[in-house]
Amino acid sequence: MSFTNLGLSEPLLKAIKEQGYTMPTPIQQQAIPVVIQKKDVLAAAQTGTGKTAGFTLPLLERLSQNHPNINKYQIRALILTPTRELAAQVAQSIKVYGKYMPYTSAVVFGGIGINPQLAAIRKGVDIVIATPGRLLDIVGQKGIDFSRLECLVLDEADRMLDMGFIHDIKKLMKLMPQKKQTLLFSATFSPEIKTLASGLLNDPVLVEVARENTAAEQISQVVHYVDKTRKRELLSQLIKTKNWQQVLVFTRTKHGANRLTAQLEESGVLAAAIHGNKSQGARTKALADFKDKKIRVLVATDIAARGIDIDQLPHVVNYELPNVPEDYVHRIGRTGRAGKEGEAVSLVCIDEHKLLADIEKFIKSPIKKVEIPAFAPDPSIKAEPIQNGRGGGRGNQKNASKNIGDGRGSASSQRSRSSRGPSSAAKTAAHQRSKVK
Ligand code: AMP
Repeated sequence: MSFTNLGLSEPLLKAIKEQGYTMPTPIQQQAIPVVIQKKDVLAAAQTGTGKTAGFTLPLLERLSQNHPNINKYQIRALILTPTRELAAQVAQSIKVYGKYMPYTSAVVFGGIGINPQLAAIRKGVDIVIATPGRLLDIVGQKGIDFSRLECLVLDEADRMLDMGFIHDIKKLMKLMPQKKQTLLFSATFSPEIKTLASGLLNDPVLVEVARENTAAEQISQVVHYVDKTRKRELLSQLIKTKNWQQVLVFTRTKHGANRLTAQLEESGVLAAAIHGNKSQGARTKALADFKDKKIRVLVATDIAARGIDIDQLPHVVNYELPNVPEDYVHRIGRTGRAGKEGEAVSLVCIDEHKLLADIEKFIKSPIKKVEIPAFAPDPSIKAEPIQNGRGGGRGNQKNASKNIGDGRGSASSQRSRSSRGPSSAAKTAAHQRSKVK
C-alpha cells in the first residue's frame, strides 16, 4: 500500500514525499479514503500512530473538492484539541502537508493574547485549530463564524472529556451547521466516548488500528531499582555512558522538574523543564530546542507532556513513577513512534514499590528489572510516604491542566477522572494489555 492509492492529489503527495514518508501507517490507510468520501469517522488511535496525518491529509484533500464563496470570519474546517501543544503541532502539520495547497489556517489557544488570534481569523482563514475554551472566547467576541463549516475534527477526544471540555464542545457544536462531516479521534473507545460519539456522529465509519501495529509494541521497558538520593547520579550516568542524545524525563511535580533540570545542567547535561508553571513562550522554546537537539533532556510533568510529538523519540525515563498507572502508559507512549523502536526506563526507589506493583497490574505484565551493581539500593533504607509537592499528586496536575489547557475545565478534569472509576481504568488496561510488552 502506498500513498498514491489513497485518493490524495499531487500537491499532497509531493508534501508527503518531502517528509520522507514512504508508506501510510495503518490508521492512515484506513482513515484517509473514508474522510475524503466525506463520511463521519470514529477512530481509535493513539499519538504515535500517524493519526495527525490520518486526518489532516484527507481534510486538505476534501477542501480542494469544492470552492465555496465564503466571507471573512467564515471558516471551512475546525480542529479541536485538548492542549495548546497539540493545537500547535496539528497546525504545524497542516502547514507542512498543505504546503502546496492554497489553504490558510490559524491556531488559537489560551495563555497568550487573544487579539493577534482574532486578527488572524479576521483576515479570512479556511482552517482553524483551537482549544475549546479560547475558541469560545473568540465566539464571544463574534470573531468567528461556523455557518459554512464543512468539517469538524475532535482530536484526542478522550483527553478533552478528561479535562472537562465537554460543555464547551457542546456549546460550540450548537453554533455549527447540522450538515457537516465530523471526525472523532480518541485513544480509547470508553463508554463516555461512545456516548459522545453517538450524539455527534452520523452513521460513522469505525476505524481501529490492529493492536499489533501500534507504537507501544515497539517499546522495551526496564526498571532499575535505585535509592531516591542517587537517582540523579544514575540518570546522568545513563545519559552519558549510553550516549543518549534526546531523552524525555518525567517527574511527578513541577518543583521536581525544575530541581532535576538544574542538577542536570550542573552535571554538564543540557536540559530544560516543561510544565504548567512555565509560560507558553518558555514551553514552546524548550520543545523547539529539544527538537533541534540544542538540549539533550526535556524534563516534564505528566500533563505538560500530553500531546507532545517529537519525531522518533528514542528514550523516555520515569525519574519518578506516576501516581496513576494510566499515566505510565501515556508516558511511555511518547517513545517508539511510527514504527521506530523506543526504550522506557523507570528509576524506582523503595517508596515507589507499591506504585510499580499497581502499574504492572494495570498493564497486566511484569516489567523487566535490571540491576546496575554500582547503584544497588541500600537495604537499610526504609520506605517513606511519597511527597507530591504542594496540593498532592492529582491536585498538582489539576493546576497544571489549568495552565496547559486554556484555563477551563480543570476542576471537572479532577471530577471526570475520579468518576471514571475502576471500570473505565480496567477497560483502558484491557485495551492496552496487548500493546505494552
Ligand atoms: P502522530 O501519531 O500523528 O502524533 O504522528 C507520529 C509521528 O509519526 C509524527 O512525528 C509524524 O511525523 C510521523 N509519521 C506520520 N505518518 C508517517 C508515515 N506514514 N511514515 C513515517 N512517519 C510518519
